[in-house]
Amino acid sequence: MSARYAPPAAILAALALAACGPQPDEAGEINLFTARHYASDAAVYAAFTEETGIRVNVLEAPADQLIERMRAEGARSQADVVITVDAGRLWRADQAGLFQPAPELADVLESVPANLRHPDGHWFGFASRVRVVVYAPDRADGSRINDFLDLADDHWRGRVCARSSNNVYNQSLLAGLIDAAGPEQAETWAAGVAANLARPPQGGDTDQIRAVAAGECDVAIVNHYYLARLQRTSDPADRAVADAVEMAFPSLAGRGAPFNVSGAGLAANAPNRDNALAFLTFLLSETGQRQFAELTNEFPVIAGAAYDNEVLDSYPEITPDPVNVNVLGENAAAAQRIFDRVGWP
Ligand code: FE
Repeated sequence: MSARYAPPAAILAALALAACGPQPDEAGEINLFTARHYASDAAVYAAFTEETGIRVNVLEAPADQLIERMRAEGARSQADVVITVDAGRLWRADQAGLFQPAPELADVLESVPANLRHPDGHWFGFASRVRVVVYAPDRADGSRINDFLDLADDHWRGRVCARSSNNVYNQSLLAGLIDAAGPEQAETWAAGVAANLARPPQGGDTDQIRAVAAGECDVAIVNHYYLARLQRTSDPADRAVADAVEMAFPSLAGRGAPFNVSGAGLAANAPNRDNALAFLTFLLSETGQRQFAELTNEFPVIAGAAYDNEVLDSYPEITPDPVNVNVLGENAAAAQRIFDRVGWP
């Protein structure tokens, strides 16, 4: 964990200097707590600093660690902005009281689809991703993967790779299915997929794609950008992995493809509130939206945002599940209980 955010002593020193007159650093700073694990995010922070002069102190750690730390520090927390991936975690952070509403952002947030943000503006999605199925076209028939429900069919016995059920991406997928199809059908589905696994769950999303390419399984459940990254890399070995597979965009119980978000919110005790608001606004700016589409292969949330990414452009028209992603957090505990009951490790 790279703890680089300024300790209170440094902030006091900066304030003392500021009192002596204009300083080169007068635009100030923000303390960003982020659970994103994508190295290219540094370019986004640099672009923000370039545009505003505001320095970004980054504390990067797994979401649960960030939540625990902010909880423990309470009103003493120096966090200004919290970023994480997956609405399930944003919901958890919100339940822990780590966000505050930002009425100043109301107009900006109007441009984010209502189902991709908290109903009362505690957090919002600034980029989106879709959970998909990657398959080996020489061994798996893509026309049999129209809905995630299909993966529970006997047809896929011993052929499915999926990561562990304690991963938030799968929890949110099942949480969405609970909403779309009801808890009983969701449990039947989870049991069916658990029975179809080619191997005990292991590794992250990229490892599932590699396993399909290597012939360990024929289909795998992953987020779209992990394959997009392999498709756009200059590494020939990774390109070969990408070339060996295809991607399907199945619906979730007929309701549309299961989208999720990378999201951000204003920390409950933000010491640099105005700078934090500037940063949150930047995430939704033309530059911010372009960077997420180009650097992490995520979808912009702002309609019509411009970007240059031939892989995203190659996708067919995808109909999204219209569920409010907040529901994914609400159903997360029920989803975990189902995974435990059906023996999806
Ligand atoms: Fe990810």
